[in-house]
Formats: sequence, structure tokens, C-alpha cells
Amino acid sequence: MRIANNAGRLALVTRTGAVDVAAVSGGRFDADPQKIYARWEEFQDWARKEKLPGGQPFTPADLGSPAPAPAQLVAIGLNYRDHAAETGVTVPEAPTVFGKFASSLSGPHTTVGLPRGNVDWEAELAVVIGTTAAHVSEAEAAQHIAGYTAAQDLTERVLQMSGPVPQFSLGKSHPGFTPLGPWLVTPDEIPDPGNLRLTCTLNGEVVQDGNTRDLVFPVAALIARLSEVITLFPGDVILTGTPAGVGWGRKPPRYLTPGDVLTTHIEDIGTLTQHFTPTPPARQVPTETMATAQPRGPHHESEYSAQL
Ligand code: ZN
Repeated sequence: MRIANNAGRLALVTRTGAVDVAAVSGGRFDADPQKIYARWEEFQDWARKEKLPGGQPFTPADLGSPAPAPAQLVAIGLNYRDHAAETGVTVPEAPTVFGKFASSLSGPHTTVGLPRGNVDWEAELAVVIGTTAAHVSEAEAAQHIAGYTAAQDLTERVLQMSGPVPQFSLGKSHPGFTPLGPWLVTPDEIPDPGNLRLTCTLNGEVVQDGNTRDLVFPVAALIARLSEVITLFPGDVILTGTPAGVGWGRKPPRYLTPGDVLTTHIEDIGTLTQHFTPTPPARQVPTETMATAQPRGPHHESEYSAQL
């Protein structure tokens, strides 16, 4: 089963196109793609039994993130030996975990404005959680997975490595820095998530060509290790790390420039395409956020700017 966010509405993707879940279920399931994960088992049961109509053609550029508003967006660093080697870091004995902020999420086919600094690519397999996971074993992990999708963990390296302790979360969370998609593929269609080829091409040149068989901590191990500490909620997203070939590890280093086209592909899942422009688009701040924002200290903004 393939679950997509078609212009903000939950859709099942069939051979012929997209089936709108809210419409076909008569409103039983909400159109909001994020809400489906809270009812994941019920939804799967319905989707497998329901006689679905033929899908309607859809525009790939309209697709959004299959998990657009997760409670937690977790990312793993240095999870491929060859990538750890190219960055000059020892392979960790436990997963290196950081967070990305959910405002960086986008659909699979986007234009990303390049902020100041050095923006790099990281092709990654992402996992979306289907049922709450707390203290689960590796053997139990699979039953908590809703499915798999492709991700780019775009990273601005100057900010990432700035300050006395690195700023991983901030340097990886500019708008559009976490494209996800093109859809969620359920585990029954991915016989072995530990044997998926993932590639990244920059303007047609292959820059990353890895396989999830080389993950230091495979998906089940990540869910077990993470759930020892944090509760993973339905709809949470885990980026599992990137193989070798990022721009930072090259001699000389190479970073994204305006006009570049980055393509990320994962076998059995699909493709992401990012186009890059010189400057980030003007921020559109939702009015409800502005209205409910907490008052800030008088020097907050200037201190923040100075640190950056
Ligand atoms: Zn990454």
C-alpha cells in the first residue's frame, strides 16, 4: 500500500492514480494525512478490505510530506561506516541521535532557497511509526512501523558545526530542508528494509550510491534503542542516516549552488527532486502563530542574530 499527501489530502496511490481516502470512506477517515497514524491499524484494515475505485491522475508537484506534522522528527548521524570514515569520525557504539524541526518538512518535489553558508545533501531512508513504541525490543520493532519513505536531510554545515557544541538540529532545519516522499510504502511491499539501494544525483552525476545493508544500526535496532529513552508516537518520523558521498567529505568540499538539481532515489519507494534558488523565500508566518506567540525578552532577537 502506498499512502500519499495529495495537495494536503490523504490518498491511497494505486496503479491508476490517487484515491481520496476521506471521500471514499464517506468521511470515516479525516483528509489530514497526519491524523491517519493515530488510527493506523483500523485504517490498514479498512484499506485492505474496501473495494476501492480507480485512482485519479494527480500532479507529482502537488504531493506533500506523507507525514507532514509529526510530533517528533528524529534523525540519526554517522549510521553508515563509509560516511563516518569520510567525515573522519569513529563509528559510534550507540546511535548518534538529534532532532530536526518539523517546520523543515516538505513534499518530494520542491524548490529550496539556499540560506547563507554551505548547504549539503544527505540521502536517507526514513521510517514512519504506526503504533506507540516504548521499550520495545528489536524483535518487536517491526510491528510498530507504518512504512518507509525517502528523505533528504539537507544540512547547512557552517551552522551545524558552529559554537562550542555543534548545532546539528538548527543547521538541518531551514525551511524545505527535509523533503519526504514521494509516498509512504507499507512494510508488506518492502520485503527487506535492510537491503535497499539508495542513490543521490547532483545535476545528473551520481554523488551517493549506498545500500541500507550497510547501516551500522538497522531500522529495528534504531527503534529499540530510541524507545529505551523516548516514547515514539504514531506518525513520528525517523531519518536513518546517510551513506558516503556527501559534499562535506569531498576534497575539495562541494556544496549546493543556485540552479542545482538534486535527485534522491530509494529502490522500491521512489524519487525526490529538489531545485535550488539563491535565497530563501520570504517566510510566511501563520497568523495564529503570531497571535498566540509568547512575549519575548527585549534583547532576544538581537542576541539570536549575533550568535548566528
Ligand atoms: Zn542525516
